Amino acid sequence: MRTGQSAVTGTDERTAMNNSLFEDFLPDGGKSDLFAKLDCLAHALQEERHAGVGGLGILNLSGASPVANLQGHDGKTRPAIMLGSNSYLNLTKHPNVVAAARAALDAYGYGAGAVSLYAGITDLHHALETAISRFYRTEASILFPSGYGANVGVISALCGPGDVVINDAANHASILDGGVLSRAEIKVYPHNNMEGLERVLRRLPDSQAGRLIVTDGVFSMHGDLAPLDRIVALARRYGARVMVDDAHGIGIVGPTGRGTAEAFGVMPEVDIHVAMLSKAPGGLGGFAAGSAKLVQYLRLYARTYFFSTALPAPVCAGLLEVFKLFEADEAGRAQLLSRVAELKARLLAAGFRIGHSASGIVPLLVGDEALLYAFQKRLFEKGVYANTVTYPAVRRRECRIRFCVMATLSSEELAYAADVIIATGRELGLIGGQSACA
Ligand code: PMP
Repeated sequence: MRTGQSAVTGTDERTAMNNSLFEDFLPDGGKSDLFAKLDCLAHALQEERHAGVGGLGILNLSGASPVANLQGHDGKTRPAIMLGSNSYLNLTKHPNVVAAARAALDAYGYGAGAVSLYAGITDLHHALETAISRFYRTEASILFPSGYGANVGVISALCGPGDVVINDAANHASILDGGVLSRAEIKVYPHNNMEGLERVLRRLPDSQAGRLIVTDGVFSMHGDLAPLDRIVALARRYGARVMVDDAHGIGIVGPTGRGTAEAFGVMPEVDIHVAMLSKAPGGLGGFAAGSAKLVQYLRLYARTYFFSTALPAPVCAGLLEVFKLFEADEAGRAQLLSRVAELKARLLAAGFRIGHSASGIVPLLVGDEALLYAFQKRLFEKGVYANTVTYPAVRRRECRIRFCVMATLSSEELAYAADVIIATGRELGLIGGQSACA
């Protein structure tokens, strides 16, 4: 076993897991046949030596739902309180959204049929881009077929060799991948550390004028917010542009749900608003919103737009209804935030470490992978489903359970989930009380 020590010793879970790590099956620098690692991984999975599969292969038989029927790795189906979905407002199943998507399905069919350039865009795509730019109060916006592709496409279109992309250490993988594809220099500052960001900016040579600071608005594995007021101020002082990926902030954070930039009062100062349509909006895709010239440039140079088939029209139709709800601030944000407060209060009172969440994401720090997997497994057995998060999403010693709260959970369901989480945390010695495993 290669991970750090935990308070739990002698459990089957502990000894059976964690003999192999994510890194053990990466490409090996050309030393072996490309498929050799596939055999090694298959072997480890067969022997249950590789625990990092988390929710992979778990079947959700209900779709996005606060209580879902889930079929586990053991083939058994059980109802579970769903704390692992990013459809925070459950707009995926909102009647207006579903009705609009159904009507568009009949009218337009289920696929776009072409990339945007080759007539993949319908009037619904166009209307959705208009709705998004109205919501963000920008001149224009551009839809991407995935959120991942939005980040990769925007960064790799705007930046190139000689430029610099400056990242928060906790940024999403797609932001890092966009930087790598751009072949710009990549700098990283410690998570939300503004002194660290300023240090990076101060050391840039004057000759390096192409500077992009990119940050998650809400950090996906922490649930906390980037201090965008300070980031924007530093950017202005050092001549950098600012891009915010507000995948988990849109529809939830800020006085009217316009996201993290609204929470910090800096919407106009953010140069590029990127957000995902796959999380609170409950659909699929991503977008970038900003000036008309920026969007015009991206339509031609963002390869994940130019070379990738447009979103299906029914998704756009559903999202148009979502933005009507967002504009009216009637999408369920207040209900979500009150459910999150209920869960946080219970977990904090029980003694868990939950970081500084200010969104629908509540992380529960575990710090030991064996414990993490044991925790998630036991929660699931007791009818609560949550995500495990570890390397490469976060450092191993910062591994955590991530709860994503859904607004449509009842108070009773949430209270049941909190009871289970607290009892299981005690069993595993994560918080005070008797450890069943000691
Ligand atoms: N950015 C962040 C912060 C995310 O959490 C995600 C989704 N995990 C993405 C980008 C990618 O978005 P999508 O899943 O819509 O492709």
